[in-house]
Amino acid sequence: MCSSGGPMADIDLKKLKTKKYHCKDCGNSFKGLGKKVVCPSCQSDNVEIAE
Ligand SMILES: [Zn+2]
Repeated sequence: MCSSGGPMADIDLKKLKTKKYHCKDCGNSFKGLGKKVVCPSCQSDNVEIAE
């Protein structure tokens, strides 16, 4: 079997710059990237960079 389609998503995340975010709605802390980041816990976009 050809297994050339490995877990590339994980590698891409390490290559990109991830920033630490803090959700103002539920207080969740998470890492995100991109221009539009939403909280993975409550799906809110009311987040701020926690650096
Ligand atoms: Zn949240």
